[in-house]
Amino acid sequence: MSAALTDKSKPYIPLAGGATDGWSNDEEATATCFCGAVQLKFATNTTHSQPRALASSGTFICNCADCHKITASMFASNFAILDTHLTHVRGRENLTEFSQSRTVASGNTMTNYFCSTCGTLMYRISAGFPGISTLRIGTVDDFHLHETKLKPQVEQFVEKRVSWLHGAEGVKQVEGSSF
Ligand SMILES: [Zn+2]
Ligand SMILES: [Zn+2]
Repeated sequence: MSAALTDKSKPYIPLAGGATDGWSNDEEATATCFCGAVQLKFATNTTHSQPRALASSGTFICNCADCHKITASMFASNFAILDTHLTHVRGRENLTEFSQSRTVASGNTMTNYFCSTCGTLMYRISAGFPGISTLRIGTVDDFHLHETKLKPQVEQFVEKRVSWLHGAEGVKQVEGSSF
């Protein structure tokens, strides 16, 4: 099937890791760690111009040095959710916290929440943005959402991007922090 003919308004939930119970509908979707022990549920409903559940920072790619390390890859793809629109479905007690502020550009303490079993980083919380959790686009079970509602709006710290990658197509490029 041609990718161009795929209806991206319908869920596409490929088998990835240990969980087989991810889902999404018009209002909500799940994000699950690689082993399946931790599952979150968040609101995806938006109005035409103003995301309701997504925080103002929305969805973004980050190439900063911390994101190289914390993803064990080259960049992170994130989306911010108001905590009022985020539910821990299971595995909250299975999350390990790690906090530091030394290398955070804003100087705020950033706390990371990892699955204790498989190591998937589920979200980060900055002391400077209370009430907002920053989740990882790749943990969202419906992969079509990666391309639709959760498509990054901005790519930041482009000066730290590895030279063999280019900027995300159609995404605003920003040096340093976009916040
Ligand atoms: Zn896990
Ligand atoms: Zn970063």
